[in-house]
Amino acid sequence: MRKPFAAALAIASLLIPATLAAGSSGPPQAGDLSSLQTRPERTDFRETTGYDEVVQIVETVVASSPRLHATTFGYTYQGRPLPLVVFGDVQDASAESVLASGKTRVYVQGNIHAGEVCGKEALLLLLRSLARGEHAEWLHSLVVMIAPIYNADGNEMIRIDGRRGQNGPIGGMGQRPNAQGLDLNRDHMKLDSPEARSLALLLQKYDPHIAIDLHTTNGTQHAYHVTYAPPLNPNTHASIDELLRDELLPSVTQALKQERGWNYYYYGNAPGGYGPSRERGWYTYDYRPRFNTNYIGMRNRIGILSEAYSYATFEERILASLYFVETIVDYARENSEKVAAVVAAADAHSVVGESLALRAELQRSEEQVEILMGATETIPNPFSGGTMRNRLDVTTPEMMYEYGTFRAIEEETAPAAYFIPADLQMVLRKLAHHGVLVTELEADTTLSVEQFRITSSTASEREYQGHQERTLEGAYETAEVTLPAGTAVVRLDQPLGRLVFYLLEPRSDDGLTSWNFLDRALQENEEVYPIVRAMSGEF
Ligand SMILES: [Zn+2]
Repeated sequence: MRKPFAAALAIASLLIPATLAAGSSGPPQAGDLSSLQTRPERTDFRETTGYDEVVQIVETVVASSPRLHATTFGYTYQGRPLPLVVFGDVQDASAESVLASGKTRVYVQGNIHAGEVCGKEALLLLLRSLARGEHAEWLHSLVVMIAPIYNADGNEMIRIDGRRGQNGPIGGMGQRPNAQGLDLNRDHMKLDSPEARSLALLLQKYDPHIAIDLHTTNGTQHAYHVTYAPPLNPNTHASIDELLRDELLPSVTQALKQERGWNYYYYGNAPGGYGPSRERGWYTYDYRPRFNTNYIGMRNRIGILSEAYSYATFEERILASLYFVETIVDYARENSEKVAAVVAAADAHSVVGESLALRAELQRSEEQVEILMGATETIPNPFSGGTMRNRLDVTTPEMMYEYGTFRAIEEETAPAAYFIPADLQMVLRKLAHHGVLVTELEADTTLSVEQFRITSSTASEREYQGHQERTLEGAYETAEVTLPAGTAVVRLDQPLGRLVFYLLEPRSDDGLTSWNFLDRALQENEEVYPIVRAMSGEF
């Protein structure tokens, strides 16, 4: 028997540049399913799996099971194809086949932050068990789509101390941003990265009902193996919020406690770190749709954030993420019709005339809740020269208020339509990337509209994700305007109405104005926002 370290090196040296089934020119280099191991398994959980190995595992499982099909759904900045595996009773991995099945669709992705690698490893283990015939019951009502390595470029930029304090893998982990230096979990509205544009396309083509995003969290020392969050933007359709908070998440949490003995709960941190003015509480993160799960919710889909506990061992984090995914999919299988119905109802609901949030603030729970606090020990990281934290089996319940939801602090009425000058090419391109339906005025049209008169326009001094976020102040006024033929029309009674509102309202804090895509137009006319809106009417 070779020692795991030697085995890993030997296997690594056998790797050849692999290609995926879709678009590949050579035969797949599939291995043997019975001996298939992930890199953590081969290295006593010291190392994480590389991109080429992920591709090889994908090829192996697909070659071993008629229920698994592989394709790619786009490219990274450095041109790596993004693997997608489809598990279902379908002909192939194409979106057409998946949609034609008529089944409820679940999408799971790992590695959006490539230092947070346990989700990727969990999905590789899931692929292997699917190839071995497990979870065949999912096939009756579901198609499951698995993208194990979303930030594939970041995954390859291994650093031995890539995540401070995280309990391994001690052989290093990828970097947080993609190869452009962008945090992919801040890119879902501005779509500056090919990865985010690829995912936006996947969401349009494969249209998953549920989308799960796997992370690792290194904040407060608590006693949960995984913390989770539903979409947090107050504009999320209420039925999605209710399905998650009243049914799916409690049921999954209870099942995991029963079957695995581990605690799962809503994502949060308890201060310090928030300054002395903040009361002790369990604080969630952010409501803006630049974040994956919030964006999924803004598209009327059921988004679930998963954050494995950074100080649990790498092996436990992988298993905790895997069990979470499996249990959510079990729920989706048992409730597939309800899941599909909630999504369909959200799509059919028009937001026109409703008051929607432009900005929001954390909202305190009415009652205190029990939060399970934990403890860690500091242990040396033998290779980085630094230290890391190791979870201790300590659970200390503490009552505190929960700041887990947001309420609007500024609202606007959703109009019937926005009208975008045809020369705002970048705005129109972004809408197209999001999959928003846009039509054009066929003739010059005189209309009573609302236009936003600007009283101030400021860009943040600090550069953030390659931008200086812009904030407009001002107010709407009515105006009679003649819009030329060719003006783009974006109606809000489309399924993506909520997203359109957040992208195009001038006061939105995560819209195309925030991300500077209207800067040029605002330089030319500092007084009036170039996109006008009509509160009613057919266009
Ligand atoms: Zn993360």
